[in-house]
Amino acid sequence: MTPGQADALVVVDVQRDFLPGGSLAVAQGDRVIGPINRLLEHFAARGLPLFASRDWHPPDHCSFRERGGPWPVHCVAGSAGAAFSEGLRLPAQACVVSKATRPESDSYSAFGGTDLGHRLREAGVTRLFVTGLATDYCVLHTVTDALAAGFAVVVVRDAVAAVDAQPGDGDRAIERMRGLGAHFADTAEILAGAAVQ
Ligand code: ZN
Repeated sequence: MTPGQADALVVVDVQRDFLPGGSLAVAQGDRVIGPINRLLEHFAARGLPLFASRDWHPPDHCSFRERGGPWPVHCVAGSAGAAFSEGLRLPAQACVVSKATRPESDSYSAFGGTDLGHRLREAGVTRLFVTGLATDYCVLHTVTDALAAGFAVVVVRDAVAAVDAQPGDGDRAIERMRGLGAHFADTAEILAGAAVQ
């Protein structure tokens, strides 16, 4: 399966705070960067659209513990922790989608409160290849919203990683996405043009 005309690559929240050393780190988060860079190159070489979402919170965001939320302070807009990983080779033409930018609303999904759906449709996209962090939160919710909006979805298994706050959360998220109709492939299969499972 070679990505074609109506496909886009979506990179979810590959930000420093979600990587080892960050304030809300995914333990194995670093392993997604190599596969994502190969996919970015592959899609860019074919002139296909690239989207990168980022958590982009105000300093008093409702998801922070000091405001009664579940998480430590993370991804405050403009901070070092909110920057994309320095290892991520995001081409200049990639569209950046900032989410959860207001104090009182949170969104795990890259579609929540953003114009991502509109931009994808405008670009003629019907299928998304989804990568990034974390499988059991922002990837899961982005995929759920994408399927509900009528997009076909391929989750790139070696290009996502889970928080696993409870052991098995990542695997359960994979099964939930599969149950909703998502397809799965590995980076090597996509680069080789193999069939999607
Ligand atoms: Zn957040």
